Amino acid sequence: MATKITEECIACGACEDECPNTAISYAEAADLFVIDPARCTECVGHDNEQRCAAACPPDVCVPDPAHVETEAELFDKVKTLWSERADEFILDDSTSHFRLNQAG
Ligand code: SF4
Ligand code: SF4
Repeated sequence: MATKITEECIACGACEDECPNTAISYAEAADLFVIDPARCTECVGHDNEQRCAAACPPDVCVPDPAHVETEAELFDKVKTLWSERADEFILDDSTSHFRLNQAG
């Protein structure tokens, strides 16, 4: 599932540049940062941890039950987002938290 940011976000901005899919932006009206679920791959294809969650001081980047997706769907999404370099993406335990969870 995509990751979402809760209303406890303190708008520090630490997560925005960490996102490899440029899925995070500042929502001025609410004064917090938000994740576009259409661009969030849970970092699948890039990293085996969710980089926004790893960077977030108050730990408010959490799974979004409204956007449940499989590893295969997320991998397809990252290749579609970056279609000009789709062949460069690989799926292994360094690029998917799904694999780490299974290994544990
Ligand atoms: S989980 Fe990864 S892809 Fe999704 S918003 Fe966070 S940093 Fe971006
Ligand atoms: S790092 Fe966490 S607290 Fe800071 S802007 Fe991102 S979601 Fe909000």
